[in-house]
Order: sequence, then structure tokens, then C-alpha cells
Amino acid sequence: MYTSEIIQAWGKILKGEQPSLSIEITRECPLRCPGCYAYEDAHLGGGQTLRQLIDRKGQALVDGVLEIVDRLKPLHLSIVGGDPLVRYRELELLLPQLFARGIHVQVVTSAFRTLGAGWADMPLLHVAVSIDGLQPEHDVRRAPATYERILKNIMGQSVTLHCTVTGQMMKRPGYLAEFLEFWTPRPEIKKVWFSLFTPQVGDDLPEMLTSAERAQAIADMLVLRKQYPKLDMPEALIRQFASPPHSPQDCVFAQTTRTLSADLTTEITPCQFGGTPDCESCGCVASMGLASVAAHKLGGFIPVGAIFNASIRIGRARAKSRTKQQAKETQRRLRANEEAWAHQDGRGA
Ligand code: SF4
Ligand code: SF4
Repeated sequence: MYTSEIIQAWGKILKGEQPSLSIEITRECPLRCPGCYAYEDAHLGGGQTLRQLIDRKGQALVDGVLEIVDRLKPLHLSIVGGDPLVRYRELELLLPQLFARGIHVQVVTSAFRTLGAGWADMPLLHVAVSIDGLQPEHDVRRAPATYERILKNIMGQSVTLHCTVTGQMMKRPGYLAEFLEFWTPRPEIKKVWFSLFTPQVGDDLPEMLTSAERAQAIADMLVLRKQYPKLDMPEALIRQFASPPHSPQDCVFAQTTRTLSADLTTEITPCQFGGTPDCESCGCVASMGLASVAAHKLGGFIPVGAIFNASIRIGRARAKSRTKQQAKETQRRLRANEEAWAHQDGRGA
């Protein structure tokens, strides 16, 4: 991130706004990945599930997304799903219009179909392709987006691979190294990011890492980042996996990102996982990245996080006072209208 972007993001926080927006642009996905949080009953808070939402297609989707970005003015937009490539025609219409507004866009996909022809040349576009481990495990979990299909569909592109490390992977020593050995020599792969599987409170799933497996994953990543420069994870970020935020209120990522689901209205809280995520076991790479920045101490003693929290408080207070002023102004206008009508009625009588 450039300094100008940090200043812009900080400016939005001070106004009580969130600099990042994430939109699940479709409820559809051709995959059925075990452990997928998007289709969990609690993802949208328990009332309805993602599959039950009424989503938009065609021009209605394009117009709906543009209306939201023009209203919220995010600096960064993540387009997720379901799988956003289900709506590839709409994406082709949307992306140029988002770039014209200066918005950085990330598309997160399984690459079950070919990526857009000109995507590699779009400087504000970042494509993240999700891979669940090495081919034997991945192909079982993520068919029809198998290794063979992904390799074909990303040809000529420039993508970031995002792999969520699970308990099953960590039971095999050397797994992460083998993964990097396979993917990093390929020219289409610009970067690799690892997240760790994040459960919901009370989950008991084979994907969850034990404390020992979490510690091993951190140790492995610290070594591998030196051997594989495409593993684009700074040391401070990797170390942050050992002390994830205690709650959504402590999570810079959750506090700075607004997430909307496929009806373009339903908010997903407290973060992109929805439901009741187990923050103490969080393994989200974006959350750890921002937490590591917050833990950094300016001049050696003022944590950036303290400045950030103060900025959020100021922003919220300003937003509250703005809302109060707007309500007062609406009341004043209503009263003025009523008086005008009363005056006219008086004249007519
Ligand atoms: S591709 Fe993503 S949205 Fe689709 S089932 Fe898998 S994890 Fe869920
Ligand atoms: S991203 Fe992680 S730490 Fe942040 S709110 Fe979600 S689960 Fe909690």
C-alpha cells in the first residue's frame, strides 16, 4: 500500500467510514467444499442462508454494485461469492467502471472457468485463486475446480494463490513446502498466501488445527518465506498467527471492512466469516496482516493500534453527530413544510 492510500484510508476512518468493502455478488457456486463458511446456516446471522437470498443478475447486478460503491466510496473492493465467476459477464462490465472510479478490486475465485482475457493487464485488479492443498486432497474437496482445470483456466494470467491450511495438511510434515514447490515455479503465479482454517465457536472439525499444528505451520512459513520469495508474507504477519485478535472489536480487518451478501443489502457480521467466528483461533491472512501493522510501535513505543482505535472512536463520534444533525435538519424542513401548508390552507379558506 502506498502512503497516499494509507492517508486516504485513515481519512475515511476518521469520518466514521470503512475503507474496504466486500460483496458476495452471487449466491451460486458450482463447488461444494467441505468447511465452506459461506453456506453455513449461521453465515447470515441465522435467519436465512446464502442459497435462499434473492440475488441479482445482468444489468441489475451491475447497477446495484455501482450504486453501493458510489454511496460507500470504498478504496478497496473484494468481489467474492459463491463464486464470482458465475457472473463473469457482469464482471466484464463492472471492472472497467470500478477502475474508472479509482477503486482497487480483488476477485476471489476457485477458477472453475477461464479468467477474463484482459485481466492480467489491469493494474487495479488483483485475482486470488483458492487452492485447498496438493492435488489429491484439493481435487476431492474442490471438484469441478480441479488442478487440471485451474492450470488451464489461469494460463497467461497473473494471480495470487490463496491456500487455507487445515489440520489434515499439518498432519503430513513438509506439506506446505511441497505445495510451494509445485506452484511457485509457474509464471502465472505472482504470489502465494497461506491462511489457517478459522472455525466458528463450538466447532469440532477435522480442518481445525491443534495448537501444536498451528505452531508448526508458523514455524514452517517462517522458513519457507526465505526459500520461496513468492510466499508474500512478511515475518511480522506470520508471527501474528500466534496471537490473533481476541474479538471482532480488536480486529482491525473486521473494523475496517464492510461485507454485504448477494441481495446487496444483508450485512455479514462481524467479519466475512459471518456467524460467531472463533477469533482466538482466527487464521485469516488479511486479519493477521492488519493486526501486525497495528502491533507495530511508532518511534518504538506508540502502538499503531492505539492510534487506530482512537481514530475509530473519533470517526464514530463524528458519524453519530452527523446523523443527529441530519435528523435535526429533516425535522426543521418538515416543520417549515407544515407551516407553509398551514399558511396556504389559511389563505384558501
Ligand atoms: S468455492 Fe468458495 S464459496 Fe464455493 S463452496 Fe468452495 S469455499 Fe464455498
Ligand atoms: S477476521 Fe478473524 S479475528 Fe477478525 S473478526 Fe473475523 S474471526 Fe475474528
